[in-house]
Amino acid sequence: MIIPRSTKKYKVKIPGGRTVTHFKKRKSSYARCKKCGAKLNRPKLSVEQLKRLPKTKKRSQRPFPELCSKCMREYFKEKVR
Ligand SMILES: [Zn+2]
Repeated sequence: MIIPRSTKKYKVKIPGGRTVTHFKKRKSSYARCKKCGAKLNRPKLSVEQLKRLPKTKKRSQRPFPELCSKCMREYFKEKVR
């Protein structure tokens, strides 16, 4: 596994007396709307954790899950007009 240099590090004294460097896990960012940038109702988890979740918990069950509900509504209104 390749650890980027920007990863936060901290030293831990292990029971054997040695001091080892541990790397902090990076937090993932919120999923955002592609159009307006609003936060989407999606869990803030790493890719590894998201893999274990069912499909229905990773995105909304409506057309255009990458957009927020407002932008989706706007899109359909524009289409109809
Ligand atoms: Zn939006």
